[in-house]
This record gives sequence, structure tokens and C-alpha cells, in this order.
Amino acid sequence: MYTLRELATAISGELHAASEQAVIEHLLTDSRKIIFPATSLFFALHSSRRDGHSFIAEVYERGVRNFVVERKFDHSSFSDANFIVVDSTLHALQALAAWHRSKFKYPVIGITGSNGKTIVKEWLYQLLSPDFNIVRSPRSYNSQTGVPLSVWNMNETHTLAIFEAGISLRGEMEKLEHVIKPDLGVFTTIGDAHSEGFMNIQEKVREKAKLFTDAREVVFCRDKKDIAIAIDHIETAKKFDWSKGGNAKLNVQEIQKNEQSTSIKMHFKKADFEVLIPFTDDASIENAITCCCVCLSLNLAPAVIAERMQLLQAVDMRLQLLPAINNNAIINDSYSFDLNAFQIAIDFLLQQNQYTRHCIIISDLPERYTADHYKQLIAMVVSKKIRRLITIGPKWKALHIIPDQQNFLLEQYDQTEEFVHQFNTNHFRNEAILLKGARVFEFEKLVQLFDKKVHQTVMSINLTAIAHNLKEYQRELKPGVKLMAMVKAYGYGSGSAEVANVLQFHKVDYLAVAYADEGIDLRKSGIRMPLMVLNVDEAAFEAVVEYNLEPELYSFEILQSFIAFVKHQGIQSYPVHIKLDTGMHRLGFEEKDVDELLEILKENKNSIVVKSALSHLAASEDPGEDAFTKHQIDTFVRCCDRIAAVLPYTFIRHISNSAAIFRHHEAQFDMVRLGIGLYGVDSAAEHQLALQTVATLKTTIAQLRMVKAGDTIGYNRRGKVERDSLIATIRIGYADGFSRNLGYGTGKVWINGRLYPVIGTVCMDMTMIDVTGAEDIKVGDEVEIFGPNLPIQQVSQWSKTIAYEILTGISQRVKRVYLEE
Ligand SMILES: *Cc1c(COP(=O)(O)O)cnc(C)c1O
Repeated sequence: MYTLRELATAISGELHAASEQAVIEHLLTDSRKIIFPATSLFFALHSSRRDGHSFIAEVYERGVRNFVVERKFDHSSFSDANFIVVDSTLHALQALAAWHRSKFKYPVIGITGSNGKTIVKEWLYQLLSPDFNIVRSPRSYNSQTGVPLSVWNMNETHTLAIFEAGISLRGEMEKLEHVIKPDLGVFTTIGDAHSEGFMNIQEKVREKAKLFTDAREVVFCRDKKDIAIAIDHIETAKKFDWSKGGNAKLNVQEIQKNEQSTSIKMHFKKADFEVLIPFTDDASIENAITCCCVCLSLNLAPAVIAERMQLLQAVDMRLQLLPAINNNAIINDSYSFDLNAFQIAIDFLLQQNQYTRHCIIISDLPERYTADHYKQLIAMVVSKKIRRLITIGPKWKALHIIPDQQNFLLEQYDQTEEFVHQFNTNHFRNEAILLKGARVFEFEKLVQLFDKKVHQTVMSINLTAIAHNLKEYQRELKPGVKLMAMVKAYGYGSGSAEVANVLQFHKVDYLAVAYADEGIDLRKSGIRMPLMVLNVDEAAFEAVVEYNLEPELYSFEILQSFIAFVKHQGIQSYPVHIKLDTGMHRLGFEEKDVDELLEILKENKNSIVVKSALSHLAASEDPGEDAFTKHQIDTFVRCCDRIAAVLPYTFIRHISNSAAIFRHHEAQFDMVRLGIGLYGVDSAAEHQLALQTVATLKTTIAQLRMVKAGDTIGYNRRGKVERDSLIATIRIGYADGFSRNLGYGTGKVWINGRLYPVIGTVCMDMTMIDVTGAEDIKVGDEVEIFGPNLPIQQVSQWSKTIAYEILTGISQRVKRVYLEE
């Protein structure tokens, strides 16, 4: 807790204060995340797309009175608020965190590397918690703003801090180094992912290693040449290196993988010791060795390390929204109860507007939390307007919470068993439920209560990747260009409400759906943004108006009948969109129609308002058709110019779809329409954007059998077995959207790191795979149909179609699971 005056001095800002004695406890960088307005300090940060200064009025409205702003901002109209004026709000945030950091003398561990940062951080937390009271980055907060916000959580009660740092550009690590100032550094590993901002791998490693400029000691793997060279350059730091080659401080002598565990034999300070970890994959083994080094550096005895290593738990930082019984959904988050982590989970819960109610089920917190912490959590629940809270455990009960809100439902149980015993499915309906349980409360039992039993084919949708892809495209936009996101066809198969919620949260300008029904569903799910409907018919007009949907009008018939409808209803100035056909020849007015169109618009200027004029490109992704695309664009400009000459107001012009956004910059006009790119598919061949995979379709192996040479597999005996073969039957078929074109070896699936071909025909609900030669394959193993290991573009080539058809063709019986990282 600091006074505003202290903070202003710390960041060398000019203080314009109504009350200098204001005290600050919380930092705020996102206007959507206000919880404790009175004690928060809002930093008006800006990115290429958004300027935090434009949210100040809104943040002020919601009770915040303390702001850090840049010089250009005119704060004269906020007379009862306090402003610290600085040159750069981002630098000020970092300087503030660095200043706060400097007040603490306990050890700080700083972790970087391309992979494994979060796992190593979480494992160190698991390993060191018995000895230290640890503050750590929430989830994977490791960016230019995430690091300062993490460091701000340090306080006197802690005895160790663990922060991760990630960078994507040159020059960024120096800034994070100032903030973290690690005593002990950890370099996990280096891969070639996310290299865009760097010339080559050596440069990337050197940049990352800047985190350790002032470190006392650095842990790294000597076998990774690039890392070793970069760390050896840092003269001041001691080196805590490990190697399989026998020339390091800690030497790995033998790694033996068992069924479900791995034993690692090591040599340290003239003594041998061995640890057993409950993982068998190479990345986990490396991460575990790295953690060993850190523990040794902190003087833990090898025997203690070995004892704790056995108990390491898998780290899943992602929040998952799982469909549950009675149209409920659950988010099971057993991650930390720290305020930041709790807030991230609540924000994800509240983004699920498609549910009528939001509920939290929370257990007692682990020992180290104080009564004060419970009160802060309650304050957060109340301030976020969550109306239903269920607590499990005696400590919550002993607090005697009396909610001062109306319609606040509070239920309290002593134990998980008691809740399970009294559970009645009818008490939960159409709710999004956040489960927040400390491990000893075994909330897995609650997950089971809510679980919807369906067959084991699941499409997981990574909502964080959607937000990432959105940003990739936004970077391509010229200043001021708006963005309409296409969520037609059930969000390209990914789920309309879930995807639309993410887009609403990230403030895209418009959404578009194909039919009125889809728009109505979105409205019922709490989507309040402007919504365009591509294809309306007369029968839907009433619903269109009732739900405030904006129709695209594409012919004289539909235009006239819509005008007649609004007139009859006595409606004025209803927003509509005019579709122009510039060469696609699907829907729209042609150039020759424009005069007649304008006559009608003029005559009916009181009834309808043209919000936008749009057209659609037929081949924007195809370099061979660029001349045609140019012709379409020219036609569009001519038509728009004629409309603009007549209409007394301005309207939005848009023609670009995903591929056009970066292939035809000149065609961005006032808005673009982003479709397939949002879902992680680059429809153009150039692959200029670093898109992330959004949809992963997985199933499982139902049965395995040996089949003798000469036998046949499946319907009509179409799969001939030429040698003795091992055949796996997987739980997916053409009724799920797994095309019959993938039969007879054309299509492949990914199991445990390898691709295996389909054998015989694809059946309705099942498919047989030739897994001959696969070792350690078993019934129940996961099978990836498409996803990070098997790109959907590859599958669409095998199926002789396009990714659009595959995505939209995954049937509704396939359960969707939503992830947020
Ligand atoms: C589907 C659609 C888009 C989006 O196209 P993508 O290639 O998926 O980006 C844009 N405009 C219209 C009219 C569409 O129907």
C-alpha cells in the first residue's frame, strides 16, 4: 500500500492530484477488469490498435479516481480525480514495479526460454512450497505488462519469488530484467518457435540471456550449445549447468523410462543420487532436471528433492469450459487462490454470457491464506456481481458471511462429501459454474457429478488462439479500419456464442451471421454488438427487428419488402447493409442497378439507413486471379462513389475477407470481414501470418486386434491386409464429419507421435486404422484427427475439400470443449 505521492515520485511523474493521500493497492491496465476501484491505479497503456486513454471516461464512471496518463491527455474535466502525468505509461508501469521490487531482499528466481517456463515455475512452486512462502507469476503472465503486474504482488510475507519472462522482440528483455532483477536465473530451453522478431537463434538466445545480467547464478543445460555460449558470456554470474555429457556441475548419468515414470540418475558434488518423476516425455524430464538444479542451488538436500519429485503434478494452466448436464457448463480451476489467478478465472466465467447465471463453488483455501484473503475473495465475488456462491469447508462457514446484496444465493457445506450427498441435478440449470477447489477437497468428485457422458470424440477450441489470430489480422489493418468477424455456420463449427463472447470482449466492431436464427441465438446468449445477417427472408423480418439484427439487402425484392415491413411497423431509420455484386454472382445489386437503388433509398430515407455497402471477392486468395480481384475492387469503388454522392450521410465500405486483408491492402476501405483466419486457417498459400491452431479434433481407440495377412477389414471387404497387422478401431466416422474420402489409406491420423493410415472404408461412427509396428499403443489412447500435430489443411487435401468444409462439417454430436490459456 503506497500513497499516490510516493508512487508519483517513484516513477518521476508529475502529480495533478485532488487528494495526494489517496492510497493505492491495485494496478489496473484493463478497463474490463475493475474490482477495487477506490484503491486502484489505472495505467492508460496503448497498443497498436487501442489507446488506454480512450477508456479513462469509462473507468472513471466505474469509480476509479487514480490514473497514470501521458502528456497529450487533457484531464481538466475530471476535477475530483488524480493524475500522474508521464512520458510513457508502459515505462512508468515497469519503473513502478522495479521500484517495488527493490524493497524486498528475499531471493527472486527469473525464468526464461522458449518452452517450459510456466511448467518449471509451477514445479518449483510445488517443490519449494514446504520451505518458502512463494509469490509467483499468475498463470503465464510473462509479457511487458504481465511481468510488472506479477512483481507488484510481492509483499513482506513472502520469502521467495518466482517470475517468468517472455519476449518477442529485441530490446524487451532489458526492460524485464530491470523489473525482475533475478538473483537466480533459469534458462529452460530454446526452440525455433516465435522467432519472427529475431535474426536467428543465436540472437534470440543472447536477447533472452539479458535477463541474467545481474544474477548471482544461472541454471541451464550445457548440452544446448547456443544457450551455453550466451550464458558463458555473462561473467558476473556463477554457472549452475547440467549435462548428459559429464562436464557440468550436475551430470545426468542415466535416464530410464518405465511405464508411467522415469528414473533419473545424477551426480552432484561427488555423490550420486536418483529421482523418480511421474512423467515419461522428454520435455518433462528436462524440466525436472532443471528444477533439481534450482533446488540444489537453494541448498535443498538431494534426499528431500527426490522425495518431492515423485509427487510432481502435471501443470495445466488452461481454463476449460466443459459442457455439463442440464445445459450447464463447468470451469474446473484448481490453480492458485491468489487474487490475480482468481480474477482471471472469474473473468473467464463472466465471459460466458450464453448462460443465464454464473456460480462459483469454492473450497477452503490452503493453510497459508489468512482471513483477510477470504474477505478479499468475497469482495471480488460481490463486485463482479456473481449471484450464487457455494462454499465447501469449515473455514468459510466460520467467517459468517452476510451478503448485503439482494438475490445473492449462498450455500455452505462442511465437506465435499456433504455436497455430493445432497446434490440434486435440478438445482443447476443453464449456469456457468466455476469450480475452485484446493487439492485436498477433491473437486474431481464434483466434476463427475456434472459431467455429461457422451462418446469420447471431442473438438477443443482454443479461445486464446482466436484472440491471438484476431490480433495478427488487426496488425495488418491500416489505422481506423474496423473489423467485422464472421461467426456464421456456428462460428465455422467452433461454437457461436463461445467465440462471439471472445470477440465481444476484444471489442471487434461487428459480427456477421448467415441467417436470422443464428443472430437470435447470439442475442439470447448476451451478445450486444452490432450484428449483420447475410441472408434474410421475409419470414424472419419480425425477429430481425425484435432482436435488433441488421439485414444485408441484396435484391430489389428483399429491399422493397423490408421497407414495406418497417413502414408498416412504424419504424424509422432502421440500419441495413447494401450488398453489391461485383463479380461473385451470388447475391447483390449489380452496377447497372445502382440508379434505381438510389431512387428507392432516397424515397425511403426516413425508413432505412444504409450502415454499410459491401461486396464479396471471389478469389482474393489466388494470385492467378489478382486481375479479376482488382476489377472487382474497381467496380466496388465506382458503385460506392455513386451511392455516396446521393446519400446525405456516410456509410461503411467493406469488401475484404481474410485472405484479402493482407493480400490486397488497398481494399481494406473502412472495414474488413475476417472469417477463416480467425479460426487459424490461412486460406492463401503465402502463410504470412503466424496464426495459431484453434480447433483440435480428438478421439480415442475403442479396440485393438491382430489381423492375419489375407484377411479384410470393414464394409465390402475393401481393406485388404497384406501382412499380419495390428488394427485399431477409433471412435469417429462420417456422421461426425470424418469424410469417407479419407478411406483406403488416403487419410491418416496421429497417435503418440506418429501418423497411421485409415484402412478400408470409413464407417458411420467408427474407422479402422492400420497401426502395425506401433509400440506401446493401447486401448483408450488419444487419436488426433486434426490439430497442432496434424494441420487441418493437410486433412482437407486428403479429403479433397477445403478447411472451411471440414470445420463446419464436424457434427453437433461431437462435444466442444473451450480452452483459455
Ligand atoms: C464467409 C464470408 C466472409 C469471410 O470469408 P473468409 O474467407 O472466411 O475470411 C466474408 N464475407 C462474406 C460475405 C462471407 O460470406
